[in-house]
This record gives sequence, structure tokens and C-alpha cells, in this order.
Amino acid sequence: MPILPVEIAKGLWRVPTLGRDLINSYIIENDDSTVSLVDCGLKSTSKRLLSAMSSIDKSPGSVREILITHAHFDHLGGASRVRSATGAKTHIHAHDRTYAQSGKNPPISVPGPLGKVLALAGSRIPSCQIDVELADGDRLDIGGGLQVLHTPGHSPGHCSFLLEKSGVLITGDAIMNFRDKLSYAFSAFCYDPDMCKDTATRLGECDYDVAAFTHGPPIFDRARESLRNFIQKGRIS
Ligand SMILES: [Zn+2]
Ligand SMILES: [Zn+2]
Repeated sequence: MPILPVEIAKGLWRVPTLGRDLINSYIIENDDSTVSLVDCGLKSTSKRLLSAMSSIDKSPGSVREILITHAHFDHLGGASRVRSATGAKTHIHAHDRTYAQSGKNPPISVPGPLGKVLALAGSRIPSCQIDVELADGDRLDIGGGLQVLHTPGHSPGHCSFLLEKSGVLITGDAIMNFRDKLSYAFSAFCYDPDMCKDTATRLGECDYDVAAFTHGPPIFDRARESLRNFIQKGRIS
């Protein structure tokens, strides 16, 4: 069945590459009518992203760059295929670059035997050549202005993206919204769960109207307030 992108703000589409909103990628239209992508989903679902683009009349050649929030298989998995199909440049934070290129999962924090099992089970990810390193505070000419927010913890180089013109925050896996419930990623899948909570604080401080997630549906109503309340609770517990 074809995947239909959902326009969540002018020139910004959410593409559910798995389920209704289990894993989301994003298509951002630029001022020159090229597009930029955020995340490429699983290796097996990368075609869905390309077919979603064609449904809004965007050809593979119109993709200018691919931003990857972090080097996990459900975000980076399809990147190599999408890079080949589009010729676009891939971007990831410097601290996740080595993992993305080597196909080695970023380290997780769980100590002891469980940590060893989890580390072995998820030790490999599909690799992708990275063209450009992102850094905190970068302002990219994407969608009228995109700010890179380094939010490490889930992985060392995890980034969230703030689209200033459309007033949308793409959290990545820094905060999730599975089944309309805000949460942090399972600590077993985090490089440093405490750091994840610490760095999420800045997501409650920047300006946006809509919160968009790589896992779960967007929040359109009082998004910033919802995230702030969630972050505040996490700090108390
Ligand atoms: Zn992740
Ligand atoms: Zn994820």
C-alpha cells in the first residue's frame, strides 16, 4: 500500500515509514523547491520514503540533503539506499559519524550481563557514508532556517532539529510520543539515560508551536507546554 505523507506545517511532511506513526521520517521543502529529508527509517522501508516523495511530486533528484538524527538502525537503516537513489549529501553529528560509517551501534549504558547481551544483539547497524558533520548551533538553509540542537544521551551525537520558519521542533529520539504518551527512550537503548534527560531540558526552552517525533504522532496543541511539563516531571522523579 502506498504511504501518504502527512503535511504537518506548510512545506513539512511527516512520512510514516512503519505503521501509522511507529517510525517517522520528514520531508522539508526548501525555498528553491528542492527538499531535505530527516531520517530514512529502516533499511527495508527506505523505498516508502521515496514513494512518499513522488506522491507530493518530488523526484529523487530534488533531494538536496539527508539529515540523520542519530546512528540507530531505525533512522539510519535506509540512508545508504536513499543517498544512492538521490545523490543527496548525508549529515550526522560528528559524535555519531564513526558509528554510522562503520555500521557499529553506538554504545549503551546497561552494565552487567544484560548489557553484554543487548550490546551483542544490537551491535551492528546498516552503515552509510557520511558527507557532512553537524555541530550544535549550526543554522542550515533548510525550510527557511533549521537550527541543529545537539541533544546527546540517547546516542553520543543525537540531534534534534528546530525549524524556525514553520515553528516545528523535530525531537528525534530525545523524547518520544508512542501512542500519544511522551516518554524517554528505554534506558537499555541509551548511551547515557541521565544525559538524555539533562539535554532534553533545552527542548522545553526553545520556541515552536508543533512538536514532531520520530516515534509517535505530532503534538499540535500547546506542544511546548506539554514537553515542558514532561521534562519537569522527569527531573523530579
Ligand atoms: Zn534511537
Ligand atoms: Zn528510534
